[in-house]
This record gives sequence, structure tokens and C-alpha cells, in this order.
Amino acid sequence: MTRREETNISFAKRFFKSQSVTFPFIDYLKEPVVILKRDGHILEANNAFLKFSGVKKKDIIGKDSQDIMPLKVLSENIVKCKFDRLEKSEQITFGNHILNATITPVIVNEDLNFISIIFRDSSAFVQLERALLKRNKELGIINTLSGAFISSGNIDSVFTDLLERALIVSDFGIGWIVMKEDGKFALRSVSGASLELRHELEKGELNTLYNDVVELTDPMYVLESGETERIEILKKEGIVFFACIPLRVGAETTGILMLASRVEIKFDFDTAALFSLIGNNISLISEKIKLFQETQRLALTDGLTGLYNVRFFYDMLNKEIARSRRYNTLFSLILFDIDDFKIINDTQGHQAGDEALRSVASILSTVSRETDIVVRYGGEEFILMLPNTPKTEAFTLANRIREKVEEHSYLEKETVKITMSGGVATFPEDAEDSKSLLYAADMAMYEAKARGKKQIYSYRRVRETGIQEA
Ligand code: GH3
Ligand code: MG
Ligand code: MG
Repeated sequence: MTRREETNISFAKRFFKSQSVTFPFIDYLKEPVVILKRDGHILEANNAFLKFSGVKKKDIIGKDSQDIMPLKVLSENIVKCKFDRLEKSEQITFGNHILNATITPVIVNEDLNFISIIFRDSSAFVQLERALLKRNKELGIINTLSGAFISSGNIDSVFTDLLERALIVSDFGIGWIVMKEDGKFALRSVSGASLELRHELEKGELNTLYNDVVELTDPMYVLESGETERIEILKKEGIVFFACIPLRVGAETTGILMLASRVEIKFDFDTAALFSLIGNNISLISEKIKLFQETQRLALTDGLTGLYNVRFFYDMLNKEIARSRRYNTLFSLILFDIDDFKIINDTQGHQAGDEALRSVASILSTVSRETDIVVRYGGEEFILMLPNTPKTEAFTLANRIREKVEEHSYLEKETVKITMSGGVATFPEDAEDSKSLLYAADMAMYEAKARGKKQIYSYRRVRETGIQEA
């Protein structure tokens, strides 16, 4: 030890032993500070401490720190600090404040002389930290949910994926999503439910409830313990907590997310905020799904008639040929062309012509079967693709359609009549690829035109490309 250090220590010893020890400098600190004697009694406190703890100096000096708030809260760490002589740090709440208290042993020449406690207000930091954590969690949820849309190539599985993710982020075991389609609620996805509940949901057992939820002005509908017993199928499933979260786009409810639990859930502000966040994001994603499906539909259909367009038809034709080859099956095409359509346009106007086309398209859709693909092939030309249908059957159907179109009276005064000519061709008997199959149907149709219109001809390959009446 140097001489200088020895002098300092002996000075400090004398200084701290003296009864009149004061710490005038602590009043200059804006943080609350308290100095304790080794025995834990208060030796000094600065103005900032008096102000924030609301005590008078004379009432605390010499008192045991265990009797004064907020020092009392720190008792355990004060004792520990005294024994292990290491700095302690503790976060405490006092009034509206979150404080970080640093308890420091002041040791001189291996003697514990006193303990200083300094309080730093960390309310702002803690609040910021909490806000950041909350935001981080929210972003995590949004990210998890939107991942469903991005990662799924198959749009039908998006709802299943979305529901699974909603269950993970909300920590719920059971859930289902219903979406409004043509004014009714359709079950899109169920998870965690028993087969029995799933069956009841598919039957539309809760449809009345869904309609009530739509009418709600509240952000969500929640049934807590005891209340779920009112709904028989929930009771049977052992559900004790049930939440319906409307999926809203603007003012419209497009669907509902249901979350259910067999264990009690405390429904508080945080749970409600979480449900809202999940609901909002599923709404946004389901809106995107709708837009996506609409875009897909528009790309596949014809704007005037709503029938499939040529692009989609070519795609389906190639697929049908591949399928027929693979499974050794057959299919037929009917090509229709309206007779003398120019006359309708010339006498009734182009607009009326459009309307007549829409009516013909509607007849074609109504008369054809579920599995048939009805296409607007060109201006006033239509194609029906009939899977697993032999030529004779296609020919009969073509005539039935032709008759239906002829029977109908068109346009406003219902005086206009329309007739069609048609050609039938079948794969693989008439052609080996899509191009020659279309050519065959075309040839048959032209034969019908050439022979006086208002009739159906079917193509038959006779050696070269001869055509025979069916
Ligand atoms: P044909 O019996 O020989 O088939 O006589 P057609 O008058 O039907 O003759 P064609 O098939 O050559 O002409 C079809 C007409 O259909 C020509 C065109 O003005 C009309 N057309 C094509 N597309 C549309 C459409 O979208 N709207 C309306 N209003 N008319 C259309
Ligand atoms: Mg034509
Ligand atoms: Mg025509």
C-alpha cells in the first residue's frame, strides 16, 4: 500500500466515524437517493427522495429502513447486500412508477461503512419495452397468419392452414371458420372438434347463432363458463369457453371465426385484443382470397355470357385428352353456331344481339350436365365438352339443346326465334389430338350448315375425311 492510499483510508475512517457526517452533494442529484447505516437505519435522504416518497426528513432520519416505504420492499436485498457486500438491483413499483433501485455497499478499508440506495425511474423504458413486446407479438401473429396465404398454392387449403395458425397463435384447441356464400354460411374448415361436433356443424346446427353474430354491434360474441351450456352441441363437446369473432370487411360480415376451449379461459382486455387482431387479419386475408378467386374466375370466363372462355377450354381439352388416353375412356365435343345471327344484329341491333347471346348461353348451361364444360368458343359459337360420353349420346343431347334453343322466344317482345346448327366429334374415334378433334367438330357443323342449318351432324372418319349423317 502506498503512503498516499494509507492517508486516504485513515481520512475516510475518521470521516465516517464522526457523528456529524453529511452528504450535501446528494441533494444535487435528481434521482432519489437514501444513505443507510450498516444497521439499516436511515442516515440521509435527498430532496428528490423526500419529494417522491412524500415524507418529511425529520420523520425518517434515524428510522429503520424496514419501516419506511418504499425501502421496506427492498429489505431482503438490503440485508443480502450487507452480508455479501455486492451491489444489488431490484425493480419495484411505487405509486404509478416503475423504479429500478440500486443498492450499493460502500466499503472502505474492508469495512462496510454504509449502504447507498439510488432509485431510477424506468417507467418510460418499461412501458416502451412492453409496447415493443406487444407490437412484436402482434407482428408475429400477423406474419404467422399471412404466411397461410403466401405459402399455399391451393386456395381451398388456405382456410385450413389459416385456422391452424389462428389456433396456434391464440393457444386454443378447437376452432372453425364459416364464410358467407350466396347469403348463407358455409363451413370452410374445422379443427380439434370431435366427429360428432363436426357433423353437427356441417348440418348447419349453429346457423341461427351465426346470423345473430352478424347482427351484433359488439366486436365479438363470447360465452364463458356456465354460459356455453345454453348451446347443446357445445355442452356435449365439453366446451366451457366459446368465442365468435366476426370477419368484417368494411361494414359487411364476410365470415366468422369460432374459437372454443374445453378448459376455462379468462376473458380479459388482452384476450379481446388478441381476438380482434386475429379476426382483422383473417378478414384481410379472406378478402384477398376472394379477390384472387374472382381474378381467376375472370381469367377463365367470358365477360358477356359468364361461360368458360376459349383459353380455359383449350386447357381443359388437353387435360381431357390426356385423361382419356390414360384411363382408356372417351369424350365428345358439340360445336354449335347460331344460324343467321347477322340478321338478328341487323334487325334488332347489336345490344339486342348481345342479350340474345346471353339467353342462349343460359339455356346451354341449364340443359347441360354438371360434368359438362360449356364454352363460348367465338362470337355466336359455343362448345360443350362432354366427359365419358359416346357419340350417340352426345348427338341426342345436342339435338335436345338445339330444340330447347328453338323453342325459346327471345328479346323484349319475345317474338325473335333462334336456331342453331351443330357438329359432334368424339375422342379418340374421330381424332388423335385436340387440333384434329376440333377440326372434326367444325367439319360436322359446316356439313349441317351446308345441308340447310337447324340440325346436328356428327363427324365420322370414313377413310380420308368423309362425313356421314349420324
Ligand atoms: P350462319 O348461319 O352462316 O352462321 O350465319 P351468321 O349470320 O351467324 O354468320 P356468321 O357466323 O359468319 O356471323 C356471326 C355474326 O355474329 C357476326 C357478328 O356480327 C355476330 N357477332 C359475333 N359476336 C357477337 C357479339 O358478341 N355480339 C353480337 N351482338 N353479335 C356478335
Ligand atoms: Mg359463326
Ligand atoms: Mg352463325
